[in-house]
Amino acid sequence: MWPESFRRVVEQLSRLPGVGDKTAQRFALELVLEPALALELGAAISSMPTGVGRCHKCGNLAERVEGRPPECTICLDPRRNNKLLCVVGRIQDLLAIERSGAMRGRYFVLGRLLSPLDGVRAEHLPTAELITRVEALGVEEVILATPPSVDGEATALFLARELAERNVRVSRIASGVPHGGDLEFSDQITLGRAIEGRRTF
Ligand SMILES: [Zn+2]
Repeated sequence: MWPESFRRVVEQLSRLPGVGDKTAQRFALELVLEPALALELGAAISSMPTGVGRCHKCGNLAERVEGRPPECTICLDPRRNNKLLCVVGRIQDLLAIERSGAMRGRYFVLGRLLSPLDGVRAEHLPTAELITRVEALGVEEVILATPPSVDGEATALFLARELAERNVRVSRIASGVPHGGDLEFSDQITLGRAIEGRRTF
């Protein structure tokens, strides 16, 4: 009952997390009524895969530049503290911690958490890359800022053991972030306190 190109947009939008059929239809309708917005949005989206990459040092989002591997603004910033490394599960968590302003060191994005139920085992974690990063920066403290969920705690415990013989202090963010909660949705003050109130593993 819908024009083909409208139906395709609704279909693609509804594949995004948190966007149901109704919201997808509302967005698509808005884009039909605002052709200039549709063109701009379409152009922005289609240039993103070639414009944005993952930082080769920490996994954060980074501008792609011809002739060298992507490096993010945090890794490029000389004012950041190399002795402090914050390990997070996902880019969203890095962004949430950055918003809190409590972390002035560097980051490492794991990309996944240990999850036996989903078949994610220790060998799937980028442990060797993390250790390389710790050694390359001369890190003195690693803050494990994985979420306070079962998978997040298991990942933190595993990494703490792996880092135990590396002559580096390992700490865990303080509670205050609700158990099972998503760092992304914790408010900035709670997250800031969780970083400041971290305890040695
Ligand atoms: Zn980076």
